[in-house]
Amino acid sequence: GTIVKSDIEIAQAAKMKPITEIAKKIGLAEEDLELYGKYKAKISNEALARLQTKQSGKIILVTSINPTPAGEGKSTVTVGLGDAFNRLGKKAMIAMREPSLGPTMGIKGGATGGGYAQVLPMEDINLHFTGDMHAITTANNALAALIDNHLQQGNELKIDQRRIVWKRVMDLNDRALRKVIVGLGGPLQGVPREDGFDITVASEIMAVLCLAKDLKDLKHRLSKIVVAYNIHKEPVTVGDLGVEGALTLLLKDAVKPNLVQTIEHTPALIHGGPFANIAHGCNSVIATMTASKLADYVITEAGFGADLGAEKFLHIKSRSAGIYPAAVVVVATIRALKMHGGVPKHKLADENSAASLTIGIANLKKHIDTIKSFGLPVVVAINRFMTDTDQEIQTLLEWCKEENVPAAITEVWEKGGEGGLELAKRLLSTIESAENNFKPLYNLSDSLEEKVRTIVQKVYGGKDVEFSTKAKKQLMEFEKFGWSNLPICMAKTQYSLSDDPSKLGRPYDFTITVREFKPSIGAGFIVALTGEVMTMPGLPKEPAALKMDVDEKGNALGLF
Ligand code: ADP
Repeated sequence: GTIVKSDIEIAQAAKMKPITEIAKKIGLAEEDLELYGKYKAKISNEALARLQTKQSGKIILVTSINPTPAGEGKSTVTVGLGDAFNRLGKKAMIAMREPSLGPTMGIKGGATGGGYAQVLPMEDINLHFTGDMHAITTANNALAALIDNHLQQGNELKIDQRRIVWKRVMDLNDRALRKVIVGLGGPLQGVPREDGFDITVASEIMAVLCLAKDLKDLKHRLSKIVVAYNIHKEPVTVGDLGVEGALTLLLKDAVKPNLVQTIEHTPALIHGGPFANIAHGCNSVIATMTASKLADYVITEAGFGADLGAEKFLHIKSRSAGIYPAAVVVVATIRALKMHGGVPKHKLADENSAASLTIGIANLKKHIDTIKSFGLPVVVAINRFMTDTDQEIQTLLEWCKEENVPAAITEVWEKGGEGGLELAKRLLSTIESAENNFKPLYNLSDSLEEKVRTIVQKVYGGKDVEFSTKAKKQLMEFEKFGWSNLPICMAKTQYSLSDDPSKLGRPYDFTITVREFKPSIGAGFIVALTGEVMTMPGLPKEPAALKMDVDEKGNALGLF
């Protein structure tokens, strides 16, 4: 049979060009860069400022159907599509999230694409990269230390120590830190209280960094973060503590986007990686904006399926930054569609009757309809796996044809940009010919309750939404604090359109329950929590770390 090389073997065999050469292709000189070695660079503040007045290129948003736990290949398709556009002679760039170390050490599955569609140097990007995660972790924990010090030094703001909502973070999966008690040991060791750790990418500072337009906006957003409530149950902010300047200082380099390249030397900005449940799951606004000034086409992705990532991209990121996609790609795989049609996980590789595939396609259809309801052109990308049969692919292609949805097979994992040419051409013609009448599904002036209901009914295809007693009480408080005009950020399982991960395919008649809201005022949204949401993941029984090593020359081994 065919020998399949691992992602890291393919990545290490690829020959990178100096990053200065990649920069030159998009009109950036060496003085526009802050070099982090030979193959990574941040873009300088001067260059970022200069670019702002330039005309913007077109944004292509890559999203997917409800994924399986393995991922459907959004990152892989995003990278391969960037390469394909370049092969067609178009000036294209990629904008993607930076990976978190927690999942890297935990479960197998890189965040830098896969096969022949990867960004490089994949080891660096997956490990410490340019230190952005460190800076965000430090800013988050500096704030935690300043809050505890405020309690210790007399608590002038009258913070209710039982109502401190700011947690500490670490960029690892470490379930033992979910709940901790700090300040033990007597009066000199601080004020004892219950605390806990989240993973760094769940920090509101990550969301803030990703939505900020520049340093000034970053500082303004940081100052609005709510860290606690006082004894009168009123919010206490970073601005009240007077530390937004210090936090911004800690983030002054992390806020600049990171330039790297794909295996085929397509320029890519990898910057910011907020959680896709309690945050919006898209790379930074600064990266997307900058890429759009440097290239004619920007391929970018949003986390999870279209019900979460794309909805949040369009209602939160687009609205806040004025960035609107020219077209949306919905990635689908035969195996995930079969799973949505009821095929159990261990039988996904078997050729299956067209029946379960056809049932599963209902999931894809809902996402296509959702993108259309935003007034955006949509193209289906069939991410081909070697186990897919021609018959199965044919069934899906014919369905797309009957539905009048442009579709293309992509084989970028196997062939790099070459395998994405058809999809790229389909996108170009769609962008040229299809109408684009983007309109959000809700208005910011709608009540928070109505906003959630609109998402549940129009995006998830559910019947209605219920709010817990706690959630209802919060809605009244938020009204009082003046937070009602913010967009909603839904925290929901990515596996189902509903809030029940076992309801695959296209469920109907379901009701979503909002158990609690969480204000992220700095980021500028209200999180609606449904089901269980994990903000500090744990490690699995056999973590990916077991396979990792480094040889005597310093080469990374077993990193996917
Ligand atoms: P997502 O962004 O949707 O989570 P990724 O692009 O990260 O998905 O891909 C998840 C995993 O699946 C990666 O390890 C990648 O190498 C692999 N993969 C993606 N597409 C294919 C394909 N067509 N064939 C085989 N493996 C693939």
